[in-house]
Amino acid sequence: MHFLLLFISVFLLAIQFATASESPKRMLMPLPPITDETNIKPKTPEKNWQKQHIQIKPNGSLSEALNQVGIDAATTYQITQSPNSEWLTQLTAGDTLQIWLDKDQNLKKILYPKTQQTHYQLIATEDGFEIQEIHFPVETKIVTASGLIQHSFYLSGEAQGLSAKTIMNLADIFSWEIDFIRQLRSGDPFKVIYEQRYIQGEYIDDGDILAAEIITGGNERHTAFLLKDNNNETIGYYDHHNQNLRKAFLRNPVDYVRITSRYKPKRFHPVLKKWRAHRGVDYGGPTGTPIRATGDGQIIKRYWSRSYGKVIFIRHADKYTTVYAHMSKFGSFKRGQWIKQGQVIGYIGQTGMASGPHLHYEFRKNGRYIDPLKVKFPDASPVPKKHQNHFNQFSGLMSAQLSRLDPHTQIASNFE
Ligand SMILES: [Zn+2]
Repeated sequence: MHFLLLFISVFLLAIQFATASESPKRMLMPLPPITDETNIKPKTPEKNWQKQHIQIKPNGSLSEALNQVGIDAATTYQITQSPNSEWLTQLTAGDTLQIWLDKDQNLKKILYPKTQQTHYQLIATEDGFEIQEIHFPVETKIVTASGLIQHSFYLSGEAQGLSAKTIMNLADIFSWEIDFIRQLRSGDPFKVIYEQRYIQGEYIDDGDILAAEIITGGNERHTAFLLKDNNNETIGYYDHHNQNLRKAFLRNPVDYVRITSRYKPKRFHPVLKKWRAHRGVDYGGPTGTPIRATGDGQIIKRYWSRSYGKVIFIRHADKYTTVYAHMSKFGSFKRGQWIKQGQVIGYIGQTGMASGPHLHYEFRKNGRYIDPLKVKFPDASPVPKKHQNHFNQFSGLMSAQLSRLDPHTQIASNFE
């Protein structure tokens, strides 16, 4: 019982935090002060007003819009001289103004919904116009979804009510551990707890994923829990062992050898006797020296080429590729296999175009070559000490909630 209360209160707190950060301002601009009895009980004058919708044309303006409903230039000028008038004069084609006139064709009110979160409003007062900002707070709801993967993760997620954005976010969070296209099998369960954002009860979009769990191959459990700092800024996602879901790379794929050629846009090729770019780093060392995978990933190519000799390509987290060339022989890992950082994938040799035994190593990000010795690796450290307590509490609560989700019922539900 106590646990449940704690559970609920932490969530209410979380929701408040999220809401507070989204909406630093609420409706703060005061309405004109109430001066007499008649104002206390207004006779809903708006009933007698006439409301019109005017859409701003390309290169249109406020004065043009007001002119369309018969407001004279003097009134328009008076508006432009009022405080905050820039809120109403900086209009974009396609914006809609709602304009209220009374029965004598006097301008009473303008409503300009700039965004879903921010509206501007002009009100006629006794001595001119008052222009106000109305800010609608974003409300955050925490929702859950779970299901079994059938055919593709994308379609299975969609079938459980997940948005494209949340499906992509999930794939991104787990991209160092799971290949969503090739690795997931039919029947693998997934569970996710995430935020949805609403303004005035209307769904806007999905927010952060708070926690997720995917089980691959029947027993391999992958978890992710969101960690934020005190300013509500995301630090990262960590698993149930407090490990970062992002992984760093080893700087060098071989030990105890020396760098014989660095990354250069252009260099003289010793075999071809030509000036060529060198898009990797060469490590000279004795034939048979073990070569290690510099990061967790999947072997996407393992073959022999005229230039590279025996070569292995490893893909990491979708966007990184490392290349290991001129091997004397491959290790025991085959194409398509997932490997852990540091595992031996082959041995130094001089197959292909090589003037002596060495490893030619390349690092690519989104298909572009990067100097492996200079590339900045993602921060992959575990949960920082100062956030440890907070993380343990949060991930504990989330784990409890995840365990209550039944992927077999396949019903997306609101957070309980
Ligand atoms: Zn090289």
